[in-house]
Amino acid sequence: MSKTLQAIRGMNDILPGQTPVWRYLEGTFAKLLDSYGYSEIRLPILEFTELFARGIGEGTDVVDKEMYTFLDRNEESLTLRPEGTAGCVRAVLEHGLSGGGQVQKLWYAGPMFRYEKPQKGRYRQFHQIGVEVFNQPGPDIDAELIVLTARLWKLLGMADAVSLQLNSLGSSEARAAYRNALVDYLQARFDLLDEDSQRRLTTNPLRILDSKNAQTQALLADAPTLLDYLDEESRRHFDGLRARLDAAGIAYQINPKLVRGLDYYGRTVFEWVTDKLGAQGTVCAGGRYDGLVSQFGGKPTPGVGFAMGVERLVLLLETLGLVPDSLAATPHVYVCAFGEAAELAALTLVEGLRDRLPQLRVWLNAGAGSFKSQFKKADKSGARYALILGDDELTSRVVGCKPLREDGEQQSVCWDDLASWLAERIESA
Ligand code: ATP
Ligand code: MG
Repeated sequence: MSKTLQAIRGMNDILPGQTPVWRYLEGTFAKLLDSYGYSEIRLPILEFTELFARGIGEGTDVVDKEMYTFLDRNEESLTLRPEGTAGCVRAVLEHGLSGGGQVQKLWYAGPMFRYEKPQKGRYRQFHQIGVEVFNQPGPDIDAELIVLTARLWKLLGMADAVSLQLNSLGSSEARAAYRNALVDYLQARFDLLDEDSQRRLTTNPLRILDSKNAQTQALLADAPTLLDYLDEESRRHFDGLRARLDAAGIAYQINPKLVRGLDYYGRTVFEWVTDKLGAQGTVCAGGRYDGLVSQFGGKPTPGVGFAMGVERLVLLLETLGLVPDSLAATPHVYVCAFGEAAELAALTLVEGLRDRLPQLRVWLNAGAGSFKSQFKKADKSGARYALILGDDELTSRVVGCKPLREDGEQQSVCWDDLASWLAERIESA
């Protein structure tokens, strides 16, 4: 016997029992983004490797260790996208969408790929919904992004389970000055650092702030802080953002150690975190990347965005018991037909119903079967009505309509009246 094939570790099937939650989450967010005036963009999953190497930055975990990179048949190096921002910026530039200072408010959703150690809330194929805004330099739009995510939490009922962490990374000059100060401070304590942080001291010292090592974290308690190095303009920007969050009643905690894993951020960075999912607690993360477009060869163009992890949000909905029970699409009616002539009549009748009532959810029995077995399937389907078509009904051009979820006798309804009979009883049809 041949070996059973299995999915790649960390790449999950999303089974029929789970897709309703996914659609609920994605649908809620898509509607919300519509209401704020954001447009969807759809981007390829494969890009040239150089895009990510240049965009995300060598020396980041994503580029150094996590990318799925391969040569295609033409010997070109391609990479499965590990995130959406780089591809989005590439598309915006390629199609001139940000030319002449045009404002773009965009969103996308889809799978991302990172070679990580799979565990709860961390997978090798995972899904993000991301938002990117171009040509809006002010803190007002940073605030809008945060305000709209806060509204999403409210819509999903999880506002109490997430909290906002905020920081400013300042200008690249401010960051460079801070980097020097931090390196000086840590260099003097080199032997006390964990191995990863020792390596990062030369490759990407700001990432040390993010270290999960307890001893390193203890060392960092007295390290210089980024906020002391902020340039004047970045400070004004940060104050502007804080004033707006205060006005909107959004609580936040300033976390001077919040640096984000990708190199392109400057000024505003933020994360929404929860303590309900263990170590994988960040459900949404983003920030400003005013330098990224010019890094890709475009004119300097302000950019800001975020991405949220759909798997983590689904886990959070489930953990908090916030999945509405009515998500699975049960049928309104289940149609049972007995004998070939009745089956043919049922098919035409059902298709006629779909013409008249496009919202009606109708399951037509397939595979024939006895009265008992068809009726059992009708009941199990969760339908409100079983429609019954046998020889007698065929002769008198009626259907038997039997309520399944409430008391009530079976009624005979003329074929011609069936659509209006159902429309009267089923609100959403
Ligand atoms: P982490 O610190 O958890 O590795 P990150 O900083 O690498 O996150 P981002 O690149 O900012 O993550 O991605 C935005 C969001 O996407 C994260 O906050 C998280 O919710 C989700 N995410 C990132 N990597 C994964 C993954 N491997 N599996 C599931 N979700 C992920
Ligand atoms: Mg990561």
